[in-house]
Amino acid sequence: MRFLRGLLWVVVLIAAIAGATYLTGRYDASGRFTEFYLAVQAALPVNVDYDQFLVALTVVSLLTVAIVVIGCSALLVVMGVRLSAANQRAGGQATAAKRETEHVREDAKRQDERLIGLSAELTKRLDKRVIVQRIVEAASRIASAPQANAVVSLWLVHLETDTIRFEIGLYCDATHFVKTEFLPTEQPFANALTTIKPVVNASWDKLGCITPEKAPQLGTATSAILVPMVIEGSVLGFLMIYCHADALKAYQERPLMSQAVWGELTLALAIAVQGEVAILDRLTGVHNREYFMKRLVQEIERANRFRLPLSLLMIDIDNFKQVNDTLGHPQGDAVLRIVAKLIKKEVRAVDLAGRYGGEEFIVLLPETGYGEEGTSATGALVVAERIRKAVDDEFRGMQKPLNITVSLGVAVRRFPEEREEDFKLLIQRADEQLYKAKTTGKNKVSVVLPEKEKPPVAS
Ligand code: GH3
Ligand code: MG
Ligand code: MG
Repeated sequence: MRFLRGLLWVVVLIAAIAGATYLTGRYDASGRFTEFYLAVQAALPVNVDYDQFLVALTVVSLLTVAIVVIGCSALLVVMGVRLSAANQRAGGQATAAKRETEHVREDAKRQDERLIGLSAELTKRLDKRVIVQRIVEAASRIASAPQANAVVSLWLVHLETDTIRFEIGLYCDATHFVKTEFLPTEQPFANALTTIKPVVNASWDKLGCITPEKAPQLGTATSAILVPMVIEGSVLGFLMIYCHADALKAYQERPLMSQAVWGELTLALAIAVQGEVAILDRLTGVHNREYFMKRLVQEIERANRFRLPLSLLMIDIDNFKQVNDTLGHPQGDAVLRIVAKLIKKEVRAVDLAGRYGGEEFIVLLPETGYGEEGTSATGALVVAERIRKAVDDEFRGMQKPLNITVSLGVAVRRFPEEREEDFKLLIQRADEQLYKAKTTGKNKVSVVLPEKEKPPVAS
């Protein structure tokens, strides 16, 4: 291409020089033509006069120019076509390569995400184990007197079961303790939970946790401290420390210093258990609203994918305000915990119970419809009625306002009829039914059944 363009320019330049020379009269064209004519005339077998020669010469020149122009153009066209075909081929290859690269990249991204998820999961597990181990080691170092090691154990509060359980020990294990699971109302934890302050004892047996046969293994660590680990008013766990009397004395002399150190350890513990704490409601141990909503959206997607029904129960404690008003907030909290526990007891492991707000709970029942046609044992209405009855039975015979009852609103999302209904509409529907249960007498279950179904279950 470049060569042809160059050639064209050379031709144009020569023509320009020739034209300029001729026009400025420096070139004696007629003389030269005459000489050329005479030479041609001599070589030709026929006689051609000068005019005929000029005409023939012009025709031949024009033809030559035309042939050169046509030839060059054809050449350019052919080369252009080839070039564009090559370009197209290259372009096609580039697009395919790009698509391939994108594909590879997406694949790699998916793999990365899977790996990140996996390692996050592993880190979380590893972190918790490692961190709780470090916590007991640090606590033991801090509480050890020069002449004796402190015997330390870590106990965690489990919101979902409302228990305090042995997690890990240093210079001791689960066999050292009279039991490894305590209720919050049992000593020595009940005191520490009420005051949210360490329980300090000059003698190990006052805590009442170590079995007498293992007591000799405490050695000189015969004093005891139970330290609640508190973050934002919530107790995450306890450090149970058996130490030398000198260490106890040092602790009593510098309580603020000790509390600051325990504070650091508590922070580490909070980080370690955060994965679990973040999805649970601190007070009741059911899932918190944020987590519940996330799961609800996921479950709706799953229900659509696998063409399944799902149900939602909205539960509200009746006249709960009276409990707070007459008995106080802590009593109200206790009622909330009990109701949450009863709800969890009445649903399957695959169901999801959450705290929707205040004294309102929400339950998601995956793969559950109204309970019609022989499946009524697992239907949403039956579960709702079971919860209502469990609460009623639990508080039956109690003095007002502790004769607690609940009202429930049920919404069933059937596939494919209600597949367009998102989580907001579903909640709205359950909420409307809850309102109906409240306004028609409380302590009842309300639902709108599809046509040709049995009437709503009510007490
Ligand atoms: P209804 O039967 O119509 O539901 O009446 P109610 O008294 O249960 O309902 P209302 O909405 O009037 O009162 C709810 C109360 O719940 C008011 C609020 O103080 C209390 N509450 C909300 N969250 C908590 C909590 O975490 N702990 C305690 N103890 N009370 C709470
Ligand atoms: Mg209420
Ligand atoms: Mg309410």
